Amino acid sequence: MSTREQNEKPFFSLGLFPPLADPHKEKNGKKRNSGQPARKKRLVGRYFLNDEKRADWDVYFMEIAHRVATRATCDRKHVGSLIVRNKTILSTGYNGSIRGMAHCDGVGHLMEGGHCVRTTHAEANAIIQAARNGVKIEDSEIYITASPCWNCFKLIANAGIICIKYGEFYRDERILGAAKELGLELRLIGV
Ligand SMILES: [Zn+2]
Ligand SMILES: [Zn+2]
Repeated sequence: MSTREQNEKPFFSLGLFPPLADPHKEKNGKKRNSGQPARKKRLVGRYFLNDEKRADWDVYFMEIAHRVATRATCDRKHVGSLIVRNKTILSTGYNGSIRGMAHCDGVGHLMEGGHCVRTTHAEANAIIQAARNGVKIEDSEIYITASPCWNCFKLIANAGIICIKYGEFYRDERILGAAKELGLELRLIGV
């Protein structure tokens, strides 16, 4: 992905961000006379879409991963994950406690070595959700709002996932060398 594409702002919002303002409107609601024909826009549900440019698939899935992250229960970091093959969502996950146990939000963090270890991480939960439902995830791609920790990277690699698309780089540089050695694609998708 080019720097220009990475720097582009998403043109629709899933509720995490306020809807983008119409660039052709002044604050008082009057149309700005730019000499250019007004761009066609349409309101779909709560989202303001630009007809000239549909959502790129990577932006589309990463925006959904950010939405999934809003379910996370450890406020030290909210992470969301999505497993996708052939433009189809197979599974989702966010970081949260063991099923049925108290959440960090309720009882505080479970700290160990400077990290909260109460939660199962988002990408691990996405793999687990697929396993619980008998969904094959081999040769799929995983979208994660933050790059995987070393343990999750190992799960992803052994699950047969072939591409990791992450929203921000998170801490563990061991994944860079390992991904290269394995031929596992790592891509930053800024939205
Ligand atoms: Zn926590
Ligand atoms: Zn992890």
